[in-house]
Parts: sequence; C-alpha cells; structure tokens
Amino acid sequence: MQTNSVITSLLVFVGVFVTAAHAEEQSWVSRFDGWKAKMGSAELQRTGFPLIDYHIHLKGDLTLEKALEYSRKNGVFYGIAANCGLKFPITDDRGINEYIEKMKGQPCFVGMQAEGREWPTLFSKEAIAKFDYVFTDAMTIVDHRGRRARLWMPEEVDVPDKQAFMELLVRTIEQILDNEPIDIYVNPTYLPDVLIEEYDALWTPERLKRVIDATTRNRVAIEISNRLKLPKADFIRQAKKAGIKFTVGTNNIDSKLGQEEYALRMIRECDLKPSDMFLPKPDGKKPIQVRGFKAKTKEEIRQKNDGTEK
Ligand SMILES: [Zn+2]
Repeated sequence: MQTNSVITSLLVFVGVFVTAAHAEEQSWVSRFDGWKAKMGSAELQRTGFPLIDYHIHLKGDLTLEKALEYSRKNGVFYGIAANCGLKFPITDDRGINEYIEKMKGQPCFVGMQAEGREWPTLFSKEAIAKFDYVFTDAMTIVDHRGRRARLWMPEEVDVPDKQAFMELLVRTIEQILDNEPIDIYVNPTYLPDVLIEEYDALWTPERLKRVIDATTRNRVAIEISNRLKLPKADFIRQAKKAGIKFTVGTNNIDSKLGQEEYALRMIRECDLKPSDMFLPKPDGKKPIQVRGFKAKTKEEIRQKNDGTEK
C-alpha cells in the first residue's frame, strides 16, 4: 500500500514537457497521451513526476500484453527494449524493422539495448534512429588477457589484480561513452560478483569522477537500476550536480517486474526532480543522428563477440 501511494505521489506526467514538445516531431507523445488517458486524469493531475521504466525486456514469461497491463496497473510508463548485437535476438536492419513494426502504436517507448562494442557497424543509422532511445552497458569488456569477458558470467571473469581491473573497467566505460552514440548508460558501475563486497573501496572518488566526467561531456543519461540497486546515492548526487539526467530501469528477466522500489528510494534520497529525468530526443536530435559513430573501421573495434544475453 505504501509503495503504491509513493508511486502515485511520484507518478508523473508532466503536462509541461508534453505540451512543450512538438507533437508532430515526437511520435511517442501520442502514445504517451493515449496511455495517460487510460490511466485516469484525476490521479495524474495531482502528480508531476515522469515515472518511466526504460529497461523492460519481453523475456521469460513476460509478453507485451502482460507488460502493458502491468504498466497501466502500476502507473509506470514502460520503455520496452530489444537486445541488438552480434548473436543477440536482433542482428541487422531487418530485425529492427520487424521489431519496430510489431511495437507500432503501442502505449510504450521502444528502446534498443546495444550489445557488444561493434553494434554501430551492424545496423544503419536510419534503422537505429527508429528507436525512441538507445542504451548500453559496460558489462562486456576485453580483459587483461585480451579476452572478451562477460562480467556477469563468473567463469569468464579473471581478476588477478583488482586495481588493474578497475583501471581497465573505467577506461572501457570512458571509451564507450566517448565513442558510442547512446542515450543512456545502464547497469552503471556494475562489478562482477567476485568484487562486489569491495565495491565502495574499489570505486574510489577519482574513478567515479572519471565516469561522471565522461557521461557529462557526452550528454549521456545514467540509469538507476532497480535490479542491481546501482548506482549508490553518493554517485547520483554527484552526477546530479554535474547536470546529468537519470532514467529508471528494471532489466527484468521474466514477468517479475517489481515496483520500482530502489529507484523511488533514490529519487527521494537524492531529491531528484522531473527536470533531472531523461526524456527521449525527437527525431533529428537523437545521438545516432547528431554524434554518429566515431570508430574507424569494423576491424579496429572488432572483438570476439560470442555472447548470449545477460
Ligand atoms: Zn537489459
């Protein structure tokens, strides 16, 4: 009950930005308006906070219908993201087009989770720009052995020197933010299980600052992850001071979607305002359209990309 009332009181929909947006430029506005109408205006008019979960996957037993029903019931607008990359469900423009077609007109945002560092070379700029937003994480790195390591797979993780590992991880995050045209950095500051107990000691203020600086200079938003309970409040406060925008994400593996608990707690503890939250960019202003992709050739960024989904 209490959670529901918190959600209700934080629930958003910001007439201001919807009104300010150019409806003809932003196809999602009409989807959002449709959803808002179904939500009941009395409840929404009391509120002013855009509670949107941008990191929902149709995985396990979660169908689109179930997700949308849950979205209406809980008053949280969803961004439903497809995993796109080598050996992921979507590997080319055709896959993107089919997905976009399937999601057309649904009362949700449609997101791209970009996987593997070569993703911008697999899809055309035009196809990527069909998504409302693009995000990626730094959970797949090339480690000290030169091997591709998925950090959530214990058997792929090798950390003989924790400090060296952290340096490599921070450098990888900086490179992703500097080179890849994304809207949101998700699963932020994630560490493999083997290091998780030392999270606070390993994420030194200097390292966190480097992540914040790279995020700021590339105007990327940072996810507050319900599943990982990351990043922590100190980091969020520091990022907020730097002007970084935030998103809420669950990264579900099945139909257990939760109630946005961690994000709501961070929104309260860090005093985040609607203006601190990310919103998808209109067509023509998306990172893939504005920044493009800076890597030189496919070979230069190629890595052994034999992963499966996390
Ligand atoms: Zn995900």
